[in-house]
Parts: sequence; C-alpha cells; structure tokens
Amino acid sequence: MTKTWKIYGIRYATQNGRLASHTFLWGSAEEELAGLDYYSWVLVSDDRAIVVDTGGAERKIKGLGRQWIASPLDGLKELGVDPSNVEDVIVSHAHWDHVGELAAFPKARFYMNDLEMESITGEDMTFAVMREAYHAEEAQQLVGLAYEDRLTFLRGDGQFADGIDYTLIGGHSAGQIALTVQTDRGPVVLATDAIHLWEEVEKERAFLIFHDLRQMLKGYRKMNQMVAGDLTRLLPGHDPLIKDRYPIVKKHGDEPFILDLGGVI
Ligand SMILES: [Zn+2]
Repeated sequence: MTKTWKIYGIRYATQNGRLASHTFLWGSAEEELAGLDYYSWVLVSDDRAIVVDTGGAERKIKGLGRQWIASPLDGLKELGVDPSNVEDVIVSHAHWDHVGELAAFPKARFYMNDLEMESITGEDMTFAVMREAYHAEEAQQLVGLAYEDRLTFLRGDGQFADGIDYTLIGGHSAGQIALTVQTDRGPVVLATDAIHLWEEVEKERAFLIFHDLRQMLKGYRKMNQMVAGDLTRLLPGHDPLIKDRYPIVKKHGDEPFILDLGGVI
C-alpha cells in the first residue's frame, strides 16, 4: 500500500495588495490583486518529516516590503519537527524567498533539480533581469552544500519516497519542480512556484517572473492535467486564497500561520 503524508503549509509572510502589472505579463496597472502569501511546507508521515523550501530570511522579507508573520522554523517546531534534526530538505527552486534558512538544517541532505543549479551558477545569472529573484548568498550556500556532499540532484521526473513523486516543470525557473504527494484524500500536487496563483491555471495568465514563458504556460496545462482539472488538488505557492480554502491548524495572532493542505474545508 502506498504511504500517505500530511502536507502542512507554513504561511510565514504576506504582501497585502499588489497590482496586476507587477504580477502578470501584460497585467493592468488599474487592476489591484489581493496580494501574495509566502510559504514553507513540510510533508509528514508516521516516521518522517520532509521539508519543502525553507522560506525567506526575515530581514529580506521586511527589506523587500513584505509583512513578516512568524518564522517558518517556529512553524516546524509547532508541528513537532525540530529543524536541527531534519534529514531531508527539498528545494523546489532557488528563488530567495524559498531558500533563506538553509543553515538552520545542519544535519539535512538537500535535493534540487540539476538544471536549477546550472542556471544559478552559469550564464543565466549574467543577465540582470534573470537574476532578479535570486540572491548570490543563497546560491553560494547551495554550491557549498554540494562541496560538503550534502546535495543530491533530482533529474527530470522520479520517485522521491514512497508516496512522493517529483516532476520537472521548469518555466518559472529552469529547474522548478512540483511534488505529487499521496494524502488521505488521494494525490495532491504541491506546485510551489510552478503556479503562484490559481488564476494562472484557470485563465492561463502568465506570472511575470519566468525563465521560459512557453515552458511555464505548458506547465500550467500539464499540472491541470495531473489533477484532472480538480484544482483543490493543485496547491499554488503564493495564493492568498489558500488560507480560505484549507483548514487552519494554528494562527499566529490573527494571522493564519499553519494550514493543513492535504485537508479540505
Ligand atoms: Zn519563485
């Protein structure tokens, strides 16, 4: 029998209000959107916890005008997961808001797609517009992990663990991966930033940050097909609607902080 997992989203920061012109390709400056939420995720089974993206560093989140809610590391601790003992961290892609806390996992092995590493250490980063969402600091840390023999490259598509498969989507970044996770209510695709907002799939609106536009658009369709059109099984990386559509496990003050993304309201 396939193993099942809990998927927890730790909503560590938020941005209230954002213009479509800053969010979608050809978006209008007249159209105001609800904003973006920022997540780290953890997949939990009876005997294992796998972290997916570590979230961004607090000083960067604040420095770039987002509102900090609470540390994703505190979110893990609330769930009974001690970052210093975590053994596996999957990096969906290396944008700054997903890889800010790598040093908080001293015993972990990290996993990322090989094309992502090639992109963040190669010619792509000599184009200012392509390095916009990457920071040298975290790229250097990832290279350091390779030299410490703590980095495993996930090539193409495959099985990560019983009940967890990875798929190379690309598009948003060169090596953006999505995870298909078996839960109590069947398979759920954790897209992370292969989709930021459900609207991208529903209306095929192109997010403004991409490595390859065509690949990103094809990725939207591919992931829609992976869930047979059931978007409750497709989890975007930054949609503020997530907190309204999935059970809240824990609040921080008034803010939804930990959500059960394998659950359903
Ligand atoms: Zn991203």
